[in-house]
Amino acid sequence: MSELKYKRIMLKISGEALAGDKGQGIDTDTVNEICERISVVYKMGAEIAIVVGGGNFWRGRSGKGMDRTTADHMGMLATVINSLGLQDALESRDIPVRVQTAIEMRQIAEPYVRRKAVRHLEKKRIVIFACGMGNPYFSTDTAAALRAAEIDAEAILMAKNVDGIYDSDPSQNVNAVKYDKLSYQEYMNKGLCAIDLTAASFCKDNAIPTLVFGLNDPDNIIRAVKGEEIGTTIY
Ligand code: UDP
Repeated sequence: MSELKYKRIMLKISGEALAGDKGQGIDTDTVNEICERISVVYKMGAEIAIVVGGGNFWRGRSGKGMDRTTADHMGMLATVINSLGLQDALESRDIPVRVQTAIEMRQIAEPYVRRKAVRHLEKKRIVIFACGMGNPYFSTDTAAALRAAEIDAEAILMAKNVDGIYDSDPSQNVNAVKYDKLSYQEYMNKGLCAIDLTAASFCKDNAIPTLVFGLNDPDNIIRAVKGEEIGTTIY
């Protein structure tokens, strides 16, 4: 327990991180690797809420020529597939999990109710928030920020395919420089885009730190929750 820097965390996992080397869809080995690390953090005593993206299946903005709201509804449904995949992998490790959806689908999961979500966390159940915020034109980064504020999470742990925030795209520029720390204001002034601006501005207003790190090494989840300086911290 004392090993934890953060007791209640919001873990944001991008959809792509679940695809592993396949790049798309769900790679069950990758999901199991991630859930193994989440189970370590769980056994250390952390209260864990999770928001997962849907980019491994669909992003609303990829729907060229489509009605944007319909395209975003498809994206939100993609987050449900990922949430159920994580739920299954965590439950197979004997961890109690509840998925709550921002759009009701009661046959599959509970609808989002903040008080119930907090109660689950207090009872040491992992809560996975699916469907983002339930509204089109938003991202799961923003959903993670909003839910983090609602449940009083101490930090957002943002697990990505890139190992932090760089001054330019490291896949395009070999000289890209990684930031260890920066404020939300600096992040916004520099026009960076590792997390979306709506989420960054919300976290700034509500003083929620975000730790951005890579899932290339799944142990990074454990390091991040212990407060080890990996990736980039935005404060
Ligand atoms: N989405 C939405 N509202 C939300 C959250 C997500 O409409 O509150 C849709 C949107 O189309 C988005 C997709 O769900 O592109 C998948 O989420 P995101 O792109 O954030 O996933 P990630 O990039 O983290 O995998």
